[in-house]
Amino acid sequence: MILLKHSLFFTLIWVCSFGSLSASAREAPQPVSKAFLMGKFIPGKHPDFVKVNKRYASKGLYLQKETYSAFKAMYQAAKQQGVNLTIRSGTRNFAHQKAIWERKWTGKRLVSGMNLAKSIKDPVKRARMILHYSSMPGSSRHHWGTDIDLNAFNNRWFESGKGLKIYNWLRQNAYKYGFCQVYSKKDVNRPVGYDEEKWHWSYLPLAGAYTDLSMKMLTPQDFSGFKGSDTAGSISIIKNYILGVNPACK
Ligand SMILES: [Zn+2]
Repeated sequence: MILLKHSLFFTLIWVCSFGSLSASAREAPQPVSKAFLMGKFIPGKHPDFVKVNKRYASKGLYLQKETYSAFKAMYQAAKQQGVNLTIRSGTRNFAHQKAIWERKWTGKRLVSGMNLAKSIKDPVKRARMILHYSSMPGSSRHHWGTDIDLNAFNNRWFESGKGLKIYNWLRQNAYKYGFCQVYSKKDVNRPVGYDEEKWHWSYLPLAGAYTDLSMKMLTPQDFSGFKGSDTAGSISIIKNYILGVNPACK
């Protein structure tokens, strides 16, 4: 991480000179733009992304090539110890996240059994309710091709039996492959951000750089083009959610 921060210093000089940003020659060969950080691209057409073989995933999905290589190494190591990892979700671009967000915003999809369009009129409160588990479009780590959801979208599943075995293995071994549980339990060390997600693991060699770049490059005004986007400033989307991750993953 020291090397990464060092390289970021030089890339900031780069952005001042050329108007585009490269996280570093090794970690992110393509220039990193605001559009990339906000997921405004098509993963299937991006040169750094690759489709994941269906043996590793429950559906067709994309990851960055480097994330995928690291995952495959982790998958093999886990398998040798009787732990079967399955990717349930990988890259989700802005358009995909907008569809998820707006279904909840408009009440087409219930949130905790509620139609939010009817039950929460205040837009800031409604956004905060959705943000317990779903990212605002433009702010999701899933935009980057670095983050994966594993096995089950359910914390309880990871607390007994097969799920607990998988979770314990990940806690003891995922870091060796670059992965970290960014949405850890909320407590004094992580007072803001999304609720705990035992299934969400982030590939830090790339995602750490993107987190730093998001802090430097994005402003609340960049969040537009979806219902409720003007709440981004009031809820401090960058400070509270993009940066509100497990301190052990920084
Ligand atoms: Zn996730």
